[in-house]
Formats: sequence, structure tokens, C-alpha cells
Amino acid sequence: MVDYGKYYSSLANNIRASDIRELLALIKHRRDVISFAGGIPDPKLFPKSELADISREAILKYGDEALQYSETKGLIELRETLSDFMRRMKGISADPEDIVVTTGSQQALDIVARSMIDPGDIVVTENPSYLAAIGAFKAAGARLVGVEMDDNGMDTFKLEEKLKSIYSTGGRVKFIYTIPVGHNPAGTTLSYDRRKHLLEIAEKYDVLVVEDDPYSYITYENGVDTTPLKALDRYDRVIYLSTMSKILAPGLRIGWIVAPREVARKFELVKQYLDLHSPTLTQFIVLEAIKKGLVERMIKVATPYYKSKRDAMLSAMEDYFPDYVSYTRPIGGLFIFARVEKEGFNTTKLLEVAINKYKVAYVPGAGFFVDGSGYNTMRINFSYPTHDEIYEGVRRLAQLVKSE
Ligand code: PMP
Repeated sequence: MVDYGKYYSSLANNIRASDIRELLALIKHRRDVISFAGGIPDPKLFPKSELADISREAILKYGDEALQYSETKGLIELRETLSDFMRRMKGISADPEDIVVTTGSQQALDIVARSMIDPGDIVVTENPSYLAAIGAFKAAGARLVGVEMDDNGMDTFKLEEKLKSIYSTGGRVKFIYTIPVGHNPAGTTLSYDRRKHLLEIAEKYDVLVVEDDPYSYITYENGVDTTPLKALDRYDRVIYLSTMSKILAPGLRIGWIVAPREVARKFELVKQYLDLHSPTLTQFIVLEAIKKGLVERMIKVATPYYKSKRDAMLSAMEDYFPDYVSYTRPIGGLFIFARVEKEGFNTTKLLEVAINKYKVAYVPGAGFFVDGSGYNTMRINFSYPTHDEIYEGVRRLAQLVKSE
């Protein structure tokens, strides 16, 4: 018998499959359980026949190129098209040379981590934050410091206090990681004033900002400003990450980074030894999908579709949740974050009971917190379940909350 354990790196040894992940994996095929645990788009929205046509054309018409190796930073036509797309949609002006196409924005997080973090470096995040970003930063050896949030996202005054205290003890922060719109998992959107404040703080304390923006292309309320930090960035301190995952299809695995030229060049070098380049074929597909207006049409369809699911979930929560459950009212993204103010209520411990007795699943919030708190919170997804499941699932969740 070979003892494989002794061959693993310390990184591999420190990564453990979590009980929660295994529990949630088991319910995938259980029809009796309503799951709010996923974080995925509703596949009913995938523009399948249009994508089939585009794929066919990409292979038959552009096959020599589309099936070939390509440039590490991404096809120039795609980078030009993304540059135009961001200008029109978000007011971001990015030269194609400042863009690196990535294999989903998850790879962008890995590239940022590998390029910026040495073991022991401090990264500041919202508390809670996106699990797989926490994972990527920790894998690179980062020490994470979390900043409190409220309904308007990260409290930037608390952020400044944290930076002051880190700097007063000789610490150094590499970057602030933020998900300004439709936060995963918190469901919040950073207010416009705080966005400006955050940029001022980054300049004052000489840190970079990593803006992770998968969600601002689909938002549910008119009149709420969702201008990205990148579009407001006078100091050239923002590294912007986005993705086709929520506005076209995550299986294509196409995301991108916008960074100051020198940083983009560094990212390109790091990406080179990760995967040479993101798949040329899906880059072609995304390129054509944007050029044909398919992505914008998808955004127009997805926005009211998810809004109506969000509304259904909020109204079910209003009907069923007792007043000691508070929850966010997201204007973007796919999640509502709930907090149960009841002595000893522990969503991690109760997940098994939720699944087996009440036939409903959620993601326990504790894993998203970088300081070990959040035991009484849960992330609830509204994009994937049907309206009926949303109503019935929230009723079951309310039963769990009241009875356990
Ligand atoms: N960042 C955030 C905040 C996310 O919620 C997600 C997807 N759940 C990602 C990054 C990764 O997205 P992808 O790799 O599919 O582009």
C-alpha cells in the first residue's frame, strides 16, 4: 500500500473536503429536498439554439483559428469587443491591452493571488466574503482581515480603522477585495458614497483594490447607481474582474481582468504557466455572442426573470419568517443572506436537520466569515429554484427556524 499522504504539498494537505460540501453534494439528486444552496444561473435562460449556431459557425468558419492555440492574454478581437462592451454597459474605459481573458473569474482570483500575495501578506475583505476567493487568497498564504458590513455593503469607516491599526503595528496590506454589487453571500450593494470613500482610502493608504463584479450587469432596481469602482478610479488602483458566467453561461468558463497595463502584463506572465490560454473555442463563441447582441439580449431577459424570483422570495420571507430573522434585500446578484437572532441557533449544526427533517437546504454562513463568526447566518439562493419551490422552501425554512 502506498502512503500517498507523504507526497502531498502542505497546500494539498491543508485543503479538506468540508462536511457541508459533502452533505450538499448528496442532495443533488434528491427530489424531496428544495435546495437554496446552489449559486448557479437558471439553465432555462441559457440561449441554447443561438449558442449552437454560433458554435457551429465558430468551428466550420473559423476552425483553423478557433481550434488552435492562441495568445495567453486572450484573442485580440475578444479583448477589443470586451473593451467596447464595458464602455457601453458600465462606463469603464479599458484599452484592449489592459485586458486579460481568464478561465472564469475564478482563475482571475487565482492569478491575482499568485501575482500579489506572499505568505503572511494581509488581504482585507468584506466579512463575510466569497468562499472561493477566500480559498484562493489563503492558498497563496494570505492573512485575511475582515471588515464589517451593513445593508450598504462594507463599512468604509471601519475599513479605515482596520487599515490604521494594521499600519500602526507595522503591517502592510496588499489589496482590498470587494464585491460591490449583489454581494456573494451578503446580498448587499456598496453605496455610491462608500465606493468613492473606498477609493480615497485606497489612495491614502497606498493599497490596491480588487473589484470582483460578476453581478452588476443584472440588477433589479432602477435608480440605484451601480457604477463600478473601476469607472470611478482616478488613481489607477483598481483591478477589475468580471465574467460571462451569469450573463451568458458559466460552462463556457470565460472571464476577464482589467488592470493597469504593467499589472496586466504581469498577470499574463503568471497565467502563461497556469493554462497557456483560456479555451480559444469558447473565446470565439463569447466574441460572436457579444457581437450579435446575444449577451445584451440575455441580460434583458434575465433581469426581469431573476427579479421576479427575488420578489417571490422576499414576499415569502415576509409571510413566513418570524421577526427575529433579518435578511438582505438584494438589488443584484443571486443571494439573500439571512441572520437568525435566536440564542444558540447554529446553521452549520442544523443543516442536516434542515435537509432530513424539513427537506430544505441552504449554505451555512459561517464558512464565509474570515473571523469565525456568522454561525447564525445562512446564504439563500433565489436564481435556481422555481417560484413554487421558493414559496414552499421558505415555508420549510421558517419551520426550521421556529422549531429548532
Ligand atoms: N466571484 C464571485 C463573487 C462569484 O460569486 C463567482 C461565482 N459564483 C465567481 C467569482 C466565479 O465565477 P466564474 O469563475 O464562473 O467566472
